[in-house]
Amino acid sequence: MPERYRLDTSRPRPPRRRLLRELGFRYATAVGLVWGLPLSTGRVCRHGDLIIVSGLPTWAYRRGGTTVGRVYLTGANVGERVLVHEAAHVEQWRRYGMWFPLLYWIAGANPMRNRFEIEAGLEDGGYLPRRRRSMRRPVPPTVTSSVDDVEGTAASTQTSTSGSIATGTESTTATTATETP
Ligand SMILES: [Zn+2]
Repeated sequence: MPERYRLDTSRPRPPRRRLLRELGFRYATAVGLVWGLPLSTGRVCRHGDLIIVSGLPTWAYRRGGTTVGRVYLTGANVGERVLVHEAAHVEQWRRYGMWFPLLYWIAGANPMRNRFEIEAGLEDGGYLPRRRRSMRRPVPPTVTSSVDDVEGTAASTQTSTSGSIATGTESTTATTATETP
């Protein structure tokens, strides 16, 4: 009897669940395409795992853009870092299938507390100011600076420099862009 019980629990439940999630993920992708393609007046292209459908009217997506399955619906919010953020949402869709919208809703409308937004990256999603903003605040090294001060200046300059390079394409959308999954 215990053996039979053990057999029952080891039945292929996980693959079935995985299949359901995969079906949900594909269904969501289909919904995203059916919704976005007829409305798109911009580029439609693939970017890694993402299918970007741009040039949509603002009412067709939330905030700066919305990812449904693999489809990222947006107007023109297609900076490199935003796309990294959206790719993380694709993974979330893949992980949870059609449970994802519900889980996202439960996680709350406030992106700063929404675990899916936090996981995808608040900065990349445009919810937090870019680090490169600190670059606008000049930190002139002075003769009287201690060793610690100089090191701190060097470190912050390096950080903000790399930040500005990484987000170069993002500048037009950085201040306005926030999005939803
Ligand atoms: Zn997001």
